[in-house]
Amino acid sequence: QAKKAGRNRFKAFTQAMLERASRLLVLETDLRGAISRGEFFLVYQPIVRLDNAAALHGFEALIRWRHPQNGLISPGEFIPVAEESGLIVDIGLMVLREACQTLMSWRADSPYARELVMSVNLSPRQFSDPTLVEDVKTVLAETGLPPQALKLEITETAIMDNATSAVDKLRRLKSLGMALSIDDFGTGYSSMSSLQQFPLDTLKIDLSFVQRMETGPEGLEIVKAIISLAHSLQLQVIAEGVEREVQRDLLRGLACEYAQGYLYARPLPTQEAWEYMRRSLNRPTSGNDGNNGNG
Ligand code: C2E
Ligand code: MG
Ligand code: MG
Ligand code: MG
Repeated sequence: QAKKAGRNRFKAFTQAMLERASRLLVLETDLRGAISRGEFFLVYQPIVRLDNAAALHGFEALIRWRHPQNGLISPGEFIPVAEESGLIVDIGLMVLREACQTLMSWRADSPYARELVMSVNLSPRQFSDPTLVEDVKTVLAETGLPPQALKLEITETAIMDNATSAVDKLRRLKSLGMALSIDDFGTGYSSMSSLQQFPLDTLKIDLSFVQRMETGPEGLEIVKAIISLAHSLQLQVIAEGVEREVQRDLLRGLACEYAQGYLYARPLPTQEAWEYMRRSLNRPTSGNDGNNGNG
């Protein structure tokens, strides 16, 4: 009886594994043609200052995939597949080019946009790609975006997995003039001393820590420790996933410089991001801030 139950469980298990494997295979096949079919698009999430009534600092470009049959697929699902198959290198270049072009066109329409920074994510495979630095240089030259208006977000794991060559690569990127950010900080295993050797400008606190901030004293202490670590290394801090005013107020109290999250806005299609920018331009830079009705 027990043996039979075990066998059935095993069958169900392998069945689930096969289904998963074939789903991934289909996903990979679909991904291959997605660039040329124009199925990807970018959304832009505002990053705001915490010390200054949510004055707009810039945007993070985030990719979306509109699959012809399955509808919208989140990057959490397809980026790992693109990463595994190497397709991420081409997809990532497309993202970089389009994000730079978008900010360039905003800059042409509004002098205010000249102060904004566009952040673009780099996955581990992209970061370790040997032609990355050249490719970034080319995109900047082609689009005309000044490097100071670009920030690259690299995850803690991507940097730590290859710490020695990472230092060199980050230096070369920095020497082009752009800013560098460590993304999802706290989810990997970097130590304080290892962080010190990297030429970074900002540190993004992973949203899981922001969410745990109010669940108990430990949660708050961890965020406090991350922020003071960052500040001691002269890094500015961006908190991800800020959804509520309580979180904003706690972060502001800890001298966190920037926030990003649904409290301010969801990732927005290009036109809406542009409108968000226009609205924050018309808003006084002191007084109350918070939800702009985009949440
Ligand atoms: P990430 O870079 O850490 O991006 C932050 C994620 O948090 C985004 O998810 C964003 O939509 C989400 N988020 C922002 N505010 C809130 C909030 O208040 N609450 C909650 N619950 N979530 C919030 P998204 O867009 O699904 O992207 C997921 C991940 O996929 C990104 O994490 C990034 O690692 C990767 N990704 C997205 N776009 C790209 C891309 O163009 N290139 C690469 N290489 N990776 C990308
Ligand atoms: Mg990011
Ligand atoms: Mg992040
Ligand atoms: Mg994250």
